[in-house]
Formats: sequence, structure tokens, C-alpha cells
Amino acid sequence: MSTTKPIRIIADIAEVRAECDRVRAAGKCVGLVPTMGALHEGHLGLVDRASEVSDFVVVSIFVNPSQFGPGEDLDRYPRDLEGDATKLAGRKANLVFTPTPETMYPPGFSTNVTVNDLTDGLCGASRPTHFRGVATVVTKLFNIVGPCRAVFGRKDYQQLQVIMRMARDLDMPVEVIGAPTHREADGLAMSSRNAYLSASERERALSLSRGLTAAHRLFEAGERNVGNLRRAVDEPVTMSTDKIDYITAANPDTLECLSDSATAAERLLIALATRLGSTRLIDNTVLGEDDPPQPLS
Ligand code: AMP
Repeated sequence: MSTTKPIRIIADIAEVRAECDRVRAAGKCVGLVPTMGALHEGHLGLVDRASEVSDFVVVSIFVNPSQFGPGEDLDRYPRDLEGDATKLAGRKANLVFTPTPETMYPPGFSTNVTVNDLTDGLCGASRPTHFRGVATVVTKLFNIVGPCRAVFGRKDYQQLQVIMRMARDLDMPVEVIGAPTHREADGLAMSSRNAYLSASERERALSLSRGLTAAHRLFEAGERNVGNLRRAVDEPVTMSTDKIDYITAANPDTLECLSDSATAAERLLIALATRLGSTRLIDNTVLGEDDPPQPLS
């Protein structure tokens, strides 16, 4: 018989706030991990990290409508609250916050948070309202939960930079922490959207991590020409996937795109978004900083 205690699930905003107030009144630090659910080991790694740096871990599960554009996968996005609760019960999470769209966006809702510049390129170019939706919902979650620390994945590198900048610019009293991308044994970055992939798409999706690993290999060997590093990713991914959204080399701090003729500094972001069938996958790595997706040998 399992002795794992079921995790507490609360949908009501006032109730979650009251619970977090009690934790803070006892002098403890609340940690927050915002997610859209359909949890995998990547999410659970963020929960582990949050439990290392805070006393009480709140995981939010909310498929946020405002970060999906028209025609995107809001309706078919995987939802599995029961499975998520079971997974979280086995980790050091204390509370799951599951608000409804109606409570997060009541009639008359008309306030948004916009982070400029960082949201212009990469995913922001093809998803022009996405980061406004993300920044707005994360602001709401910060205001409801009041975390002293919040953990986000580097898998969504641009999102992490946007949230860090927002917290800094708006003096939000929260430390935003980035956690490394969790990958399957063969290198594929874990994503709730991997569930959409057919067996052959799943196989072709390996070109993403393989390309990023190839760029690490070149960088380790001393290559600093941005074009050569970017093409190490571009060539295999273009050959194996159906529609490239972008494969970009950029400054990892400002996200400014670098031309192929540029020379890489000590760190270089290579980020990509591509489609396999109807599934959009993203991945990235920071050369000179991240571990490669797969061993270099
Ligand atoms: P999502 O549920 O996809 O919105 O993601 C919730 C959080 O989990 C975000 O901070 C993501 O960056 C993070 N995340 C998603 N996939 C991974 C992964 N494979 N490794 C690390 N973090 C991840």
C-alpha cells in the first residue's frame, strides 16, 4: 500500500492567498513553479529545485488562454490533473493551484503587462501576443502566491529572460531562478507537446538536440564564426523537420540576433522553433554555458 499523501489542490484565489499568507507569517519562504500541467520530469525537476530554495512549494497548473494565439493548440493542449496530482504527491510540493480561466480573467479584465525589446525576436516574431499573455499571467500568479522564489525552465529561454526582466523592471519582490533543460535519454527536450508526435516525427525530432550538440562540438573545437555554429544546427533540422520558424544565433542576455558574419563571444545562444506535422517544438542551448544535450564524444 502506498503511503504517499495526496497533494492539496486549491482552485480558489483567496484560499491560496490565505494559505501562502500563513506560510509567510511563520517567517517562511514560498516557492512557486508555474506550469500548464501535463507534467513531465522537466516540470518535476523545477519542483525539486524550488524545494531546495524555499520552505513551501506551490505549483500552479493553468492552461493560460491569453498566451495562445488564434489557431494555436489551446483546445487540444493535454490536460491531466489527476495524473499531475499523483506525480506531485511523490515530490516535495505542498500545494497545487488550479484556477479556472473565468477566475483569472473575469468579465471586464483589461490590464496587461508588456515587456519590450526582449519579446521582438525569436518566438515573439511569430507569436506576437504570446509573451504579453505570459507576463500578465505570471504577474497575477506572483500577486496571488507571493513567492520569494520562482523557478522557470531554460527550455523556454526567451520566456525566462522576459520574466527575469519583468521582475527586475517592476521591482517584484521575487527571485527568478532558471533551471536546466531536462531531456529524454536520447536528447529530445521534454515537452508536454511531445505527446502530439507520431513515432516517425519523434524520430525526426532528434535532429534538434543533435544539431545543438554539433554546435557545442564545433564551439569546443574553437569555432567562433556565428554562421558556422548556426548552420551546424540549421542543416540537420531543416533536413528533418517540416517548417522552420527560426534558427537563430543571439546574444544570450539581450536576445539580439547576430548575423552569420559575426564572431561569437564567450557565450552564444542558439535557439530554434520548428514544426513536425502540426506540432511546434522549440529548443535552445547557450554555447559556453550550458551542458550539450548529448555527450560530445
Ligand atoms: P509549461 O507547462 O510548458 O508552460 O512549462 C512550465 C515550466 O516548465 C516553464 O518554466 C518551462 O520552461 C518548464 N519546462 C518545460 N519543459 C521543460 C524541460 N524539458 N526542462 C526544464 N524545464 C522545462
